[in-house]
Amino acid sequence: MDLKALIRDIPDFPQPGVIFRDITTLLKEPKGLKYVIDSLALECEKLENTPDYIIGIESRGFIFAPALAYHLDAGFVPVRKKGKLPADVHSIEYQLEYGTDTLEIHQDAIPSGSKVMIVDDVIATGGTAKATSDLVQQIGSELVAFGFIVELTGLEGRKKLPDLPCISLVEY
Ligand code: 5GP
Repeated sequence: MDLKALIRDIPDFPQPGVIFRDITTLLKEPKGLKYVIDSLALECEKLENTPDYIIGIESRGFIFAPALAYHLDAGFVPVRKKGKLPADVHSIEYQLEYGTDTLEIHQDAIPSGSKVMIVDDVIATGGTAKATSDLVQQIGSELVAFGFIVELTGLEGRKKLPDLPCISLVEY
């Protein structure tokens, strides 16, 4: 399937000079959504270590991670922005282009020793996925893979991540 034909390019969003890859046009296409979830699941079946838990990163990771978890008979765990999770959390602050952001995970979200995969819609600079992988380390789980729909290869985000399988379905 030609995913690029289903993903809409929005020039100068959220700021001048950036081309935003809008996945809402892919999501509304029934065959498109099914295709990306099935494709991620197929790639996961080739992994040496099958994940027990799929972490989705707020907010667009929440669209794909639960569907993939359902396919793999795995659990879904949300990583959220600061202050959203009700129980005790581990937090990580990470650098954005301007300023910082914080991501959090429930301390008891994942039994120690479990195998975990991190899923988001897009990897750009890799900062968000790297921060999430640091959180996974904090909770003592074994990270086994990353999964993205879109990879913006020019930003070399993959280089920031630990040396693990990194699935992406379409590259720009
Ligand atoms: P990074 O931390 O890798 O620089 O940025 C990735 C995060 O920003 C992801 O959570 C992703 O949702 C969002 N993001 C960055 N660029 C885009 C884009 O072009 N399209 C979409 N849909 N999300 C983006």
